[in-house]
Formats: sequence, C-alpha cells, structure tokens
Amino acid sequence: MISYDLELSSGVRVCVRFSDADDGDFATAGDPGELSLARQRVSPHPWTWLRQVHGTDVVVVDEPGAHAGAEGDAVVTDQAGATIGVQTADCVPIILVGENGVIAAAHAGWKGATAGVAAETVASMRERDCGAIRAIIGPAIRPECYEFGEADLATVANALGDRVRGRTSGGSPALDLVAGLTTQLEALDVAVESVGHCTACEGNWFSHRARVDKGRQVSAVWIEP
Ligand SMILES: [Zn+2]
Repeated sequence: MISYDLELSSGVRVCVRFSDADDGDFATAGDPGELSLARQRVSPHPWTWLRQVHGTDVVVVDEPGAHAGAEGDAVVTDQAGATIGVQTADCVPIILVGENGVIAAAHAGWKGATAGVAAETVASMRERDCGAIRAIIGPAIRPECYEFGEADLATVANALGDRVRGRTSGGSPALDLVAGLTTQLEALDVAVESVGHCTACEGNWFSHRARVDKGRQVSAVWIEP
C-alpha cells in the first residue's frame, strides 16, 4: 500500500491510499464479504465504489456511502468521512485533492481518458469551488510494457497530445497514458505527481495486460472526519 496523508491549509486532513496485490482484490464482482473486509482494512469510513464503464460520468457523493455501486468512472465529494475510490489493473487511477476540501477519484483507461474523464472530473470539482487542485497518479501500465496500434495511438494523441507516443522496451510504438494525462491536467492548472510503478512488470500489482489478472487494486481517498 502506498499512503499519503495530506494536510490542507484549512487544517483538514486528507488520506490517499493505493493498494497493491497484498492488500486484497477490489474487483467489484468479488465476494461481497471479502470485499467489505478488504475495504475496511484500507478505510473504516463508508465507501462509494463505482461500476466502471470506461466513460466520463462523474458521480457526486453528498453523504458517506451514497451511490455505492453506481455506474460511472469518476467520483467527487466534499463530505468528511466518505471514502471514494476506483479499481484498476493497468488503467490509470487518478486521485485529486482540492485545497478547499473537495476530493475526487477517476478511472482512466485509454478510452475514458480520450473521451475526457480527467477533464470532466476537474470541471466537477471546480463547480464545487475546490480551490487549487493537486493530482496523484497511481500505479498503471507504462509504455515499456504497453505496445499499442498506430491507429488507436493517433486517436489518443488527438485528444491528449503527442506525449502519449511512447516506445516499448523492444522499440515498438506504445501508449504512455500517464504522460498524456499529465499534460492534460497540467494544461488545466492541476499540479501532477505520480507514484511511478508499472503494473505489468513490477510484480506486486494486478495486471490485465501482462498476466490476465482478474484482480483489481484500489485507489481511494477520504477526508478525515
Ligand atoms: Zn512495465
């Protein structure tokens, strides 16, 4: 588990967690009892998770636990004690924290990223007067392991810029979605950092691409009540 405990200028504390395979399987199709226990080990506060569809819908949580299981690929809240999160294996998880106490989590695979899920999430946060935003990009597949067809690369580059054009370790065209999302978020005045780590080649992460894993890690955030 990678943990960040942030203190906002108002004194509010925000907790960010990126699970790894040792922390359990957060795939929403899993056993509900085991899922509940795995979630409680990450955060004791009520959870809102999503039924993710590689789209751009942003779910707004107005009380802890609201809209659990709703369809969407991003979730925003300003409610203390509401844990929000997304599940991934290779797709890019993004946690966003607004200085005024508005937080978000987004699931950005190449389709959702190209469709604009990151920008939609930032827009929803700004509708709530979130203040300056910092984003933390979690573990995701990196270009050295992510060979990608030229036609699809052109589609993603058209939306996110040419920094998405990477190379695999073998020299083939590859998708660098982290670079593309970083470019897009920085253009929206979001300060971006990344935890690093490639889910495909660094061992302790679920990877659909590398190992056809059914498991999912979770990226979660909450405001301490
Ligand atoms: Zn890799």
